[in-house]
Amino acid sequence: MCKKLLRFLGLDKQSKYVRNYFYTTNMKASIYMSVIVIILELWMIIRMTRTIFEKHLQSQIWNLTEKYYSNYILLMSSGILMLLFAVRALYNSRRHRWLAILVIGLCSAVAAFEVWRLTLYPGSGKKTQDLLNYIILLSAAIIMISFSFVMLKNGSDKKWQSLTVMYVFSFVCINFGIIISVNGYAKGEQMLTFLTMVLYVVCLLVWRPVWGFIVLTASYLVFYYRISGMLDLSTVGKFTGTVDFTLYKTGLGDGIKINGFTMWLSTLIFCIANYNKTLSQAQKDENLEKINTYLSRISAEDELTGIHNMVYFRSEAEKLLGYVTTDRENVIILFFDIENFKSYNDKYGFHSGNELLIKFAHRIEEAFKGSLVARYSDDHFVVLTKNDGFMPIIQQLSENIRELQGEVQLVLKCGAYKPNADESDISHACDRARFACNSIKKHFDRNYCLYDKTLETKFTLRQYIVNNIDTAIANDYIKVYYQPVVSTKDGTLCGFEALARWQDPKYGLLPPGVFIDVLEEYRQIYKLDKQIIELVCRDYRRTFDNKEPFVPVSLNFSRLDFELCDIVGFISEMADKYNVPKNFLDVEITESALSNQQALLQEAMRRLHGEGYSVWLDDFGSGYSSLNVLKDYQFDVMKIDMKFLSGFPENVKTKTILENIVGLNKQLGMVSLTEGVETLEQYEFLRSIGCDMVQGFYFSKPIPYDEMKEKIVAGKLKVAQQFVR
Ligand code: C2E
Ligand code: MG
Ligand code: MG
Repeated sequence: MCKKLLRFLGLDKQSKYVRNYFYTTNMKASIYMSVIVIILELWMIIRMTRTIFEKHLQSQIWNLTEKYYSNYILLMSSGILMLLFAVRALYNSRRHRWLAILVIGLCSAVAAFEVWRLTLYPGSGKKTQDLLNYIILLSAAIIMISFSFVMLKNGSDKKWQSLTVMYVFSFVCINFGIIISVNGYAKGEQMLTFLTMVLYVVCLLVWRPVWGFIVLTASYLVFYYRISGMLDLSTVGKFTGTVDFTLYKTGLGDGIKINGFTMWLSTLIFCIANYNKTLSQAQKDENLEKINTYLSRISAEDELTGIHNMVYFRSEAEKLLGYVTTDRENVIILFFDIENFKSYNDKYGFHSGNELLIKFAHRIEEAFKGSLVARYSDDHFVVLTKNDGFMPIIQQLSENIRELQGEVQLVLKCGAYKPNADESDISHACDRARFACNSIKKHFDRNYCLYDKTLETKFTLRQYIVNNIDTAIANDYIKVYYQPVVSTKDGTLCGFEALARWQDPKYGLLPPGVFIDVLEEYRQIYKLDKQIIELVCRDYRRTFDNKEPFVPVSLNFSRLDFELCDIVGFISEMADKYNVPKNFLDVEITESALSNQQALLQEAMRRLHGEGYSVWLDDFGSGYSSLNVLKDYQFDVMKIDMKFLSGFPENVKTKTILENIVGLNKQLGMVSLTEGVETLEQYEFLRSIGCDMVQGFYFSKPIPYDEMKEKIVAGKLKVAQQFVR
């Protein structure tokens, strides 16, 4: 209760991030405010100078006692000082010394002018009585002069300095508003300046509610007493030092009082709403930032060894090869494999195996200092280095492995690939280096192999895939396997993921890992994806007509599908042809697809949504830009990558991060689905944190529809009520 009250008043303790967020927001707003104030006041000063000059021409008297002059100069100086501090706070800029000197000059002029006008100049008459105004102007000028000196001293940036300047600036603005409006009111003119200034200060800046209340209430009260007092005193801005309350009660009309109260109340409400909006935005951003930091670390770093991972390697290597200054002739990619590592694991256990990998990873990183080194996977490492002088390093690393091997004979194998002058596809190059490395496995006399022409021929399976995709489609070699998606609410089957398989007469059953990448590389993937769409729609129609069980199916789309064909048009065409309801087809787009071609994908997603399909984000967390993707695209379901479950349950961080992602999805209005669930323990945990759906080998591997039907009929999978036929 107490906490809630403190939170409501804005007195609760805030994290450093939130405080910084408020600070930055206020500094940004201060820049806009100060620029407007500077321009406005400059205009006013020019106008007034012209008036004084014209009067002088008529009467030959210089009337410099006009007190607005000081107000205008003071407001403009505080604007300049605010601008300086805000720019310094936001951009760490320190190159505005002459502006600080200008503020000192202007404020000193105000101070001197006020002293002269009020104490020495005999003709200032009744205006000298405005003692309060005099004191305010003088104190504000002194504070600003002091802060200009702080600025000049070029000391370290301290937030309290910028914030103090901001408070002085706000104070000067509101005070200016009061003075102008009180005088305006006395002459029967407008009193909008006060309201404008209050709105300006309280609505553009973010105040904690309690401070907003104090600032607003104090401003309104002072204004109220000043204009009420005037009714009796009938002199402009006369300061008596006492307040006659009876007079005020009768003095001011009800209209003004009611309007004043309404304005006070509405500005206060706006001020509180503004605070709460900014606070929730800050907290949301803080949440995003935390996950982003974690993700960017794990997306660049190999979790086990701490050296770079392949995501980092690929992106850095691509950059490196892209530089014009890189001598491509002199670059080589090395792929390392510790042969017999499995035996080491078997003999000494997983833990010791991991320790060996960690040690070796750091040795390889040290040995190739200055080159790009990463863990490829398991006991595989890749290095991008210079084409000369690496052979002795390989020998030295082979020695290192022998030192670490214990009683198991470990052998270091290295495959090398020299990218062509115009080649920048790193995965391609690593594949070839790996291919070369694999080719010398079990050859005890060799530990190094350069990818050459003869190896190239072995790459023909890849070619086979590319060349035979049309035949495979025409001859129905392409099959759809279904993997169940289960609702955590009641453990029922609520969806399938359609996964492609290639049943080849020559090579046997090929998993997508063998052909997807190749088809993408050769921009043929859309053919496969179109075929899978048609097969799924056909399955729907057949099962529907036979009254067999079926649930909504999610289809994997490649980024290239959107480029290479009208895949959105095609899915709708198939849905119409086989009369499949749109809610039975969902589209999965993998996270890594979203890093480029933003406009194209956003347009495609808009169309998909428009036509009534759900769009799912596949493999969230597997790439570099996970969270940016959430900002830029609108997804209905997030499939959380199975890598998050890989350290389960030992890695406590995994649990926290999963919990955070699921929570974030709820905030963003997305449904969560975690992939790769292999144990009951994982399932129970995901259910407990509110993950809506799960998928994984724990329920079933991907299997053909007929096998799936058998499982359903045998009661191993229970179809969700809404899909029971
Ligand atoms: P994905 O879309 O992330 O699909 C999930 C993959 O994880 C499937 O591999 C599935 O068999 C595997 N998997 C599911 N549960 C578990 C589990 O509990 N443990 C483990 N270790 N693995 C699990 P699959 O079928 O080999 O597919 C691999 C990838 O190939 C898919 O990843 C998807 O990106 C791509 N793919 C598959 N079919 C198609 C397709 O028709 N079109 C396109 N463009 N890509 C496809
Ligand atoms: Mg998928
Ligand atoms: Mg996936």
